[in-house]
Amino acid sequence: MPWTERQRAMLGAMGLRVWTPPAPAAAPAPSAPPVAARAAPAAAPAAAPAAAPVAAPAATAARPDVAASDWPALRAAVSACRACGLCETRTQTVFGVGHERAHWLVLGEAPGENEDLQGEPFVGAAGQLLDRMLAALNLTRSSEGDTPPAQRVFIANTLKCRPPGNRNPAPAELSQCEPFLVRQIELLQPRIVLALGKFAAQALLRSDAPVGKLRGRVHRYQGVPLIVSYHPAYLLRSPLEKARAWEDLCLAAQVAEGQAT
Ligand code: URA
Repeated sequence: MPWTERQRAMLGAMGLRVWTPPAPAAAPAPSAPPVAARAAPAAAPAAAPAAAPVAAPAATAARPDVAASDWPALRAAVSACRACGLCETRTQTVFGVGHERAHWLVLGEAPGENEDLQGEPFVGAAGQLLDRMLAALNLTRSSEGDTPPAQRVFIANTLKCRPPGNRNPAPAELSQCEPFLVRQIELLQPRIVLALGKFAAQALLRSDAPVGKLRGRVHRYQGVPLIVSYHPAYLLRSPLEKARAWEDLCLAAQVAEGQAT
């Protein structure tokens, strides 16, 4: 079956070569086609799998100021936060980027060096891959112009400050920062959440299952459909997993389209 334009765009954006079946007169088909041809679905996935159980809501009780904040107050609270030791080493906080009415929320782990310097999530190599993947679905992090909300993405991280040396977030740091994320989601009211990597998935699903076990189905966070996929930094190290990440994005797009009003 020929690839659609959308599929070609997605594969190209993710750096996967498109395999085209040989013409009838050509040599027999290779016995082991490249991974994109084997692993990627021929079209958007069939009916979305049944939703997994609803995740437990996260508590914002410790931060009543944050729980009642609007966007400007929340931004100010994040900038001023000194709740954990990361405030000592950060250059600046990284609140998130995107339109405040975006239908998509993409959640990563924590700012890295570039993000800490620029104050925006996913601006390094992993971010460039993420942007190409989103662009292949006609999605943008830009808050400019008159793009419909269904094509807009808000990108945030579980932590708003960079862990030194890009180490993993510590449990205490995650729990101190969680009220900010909870409020971001309450204000944004996304139609679809894409959790990239272990820390994003675990923060929202309260599960310590690996990404490989959580991906490929529809979870729920506070009633909002949530898809888990691999972190783009992992995809840069393990390009063979890009085909699965593409499946996850197709599933997310399918669910998002089903949600569109
Ligand atoms: N990795 C993340 O999880 N978030 C960023 O903002 C950058 C890299």
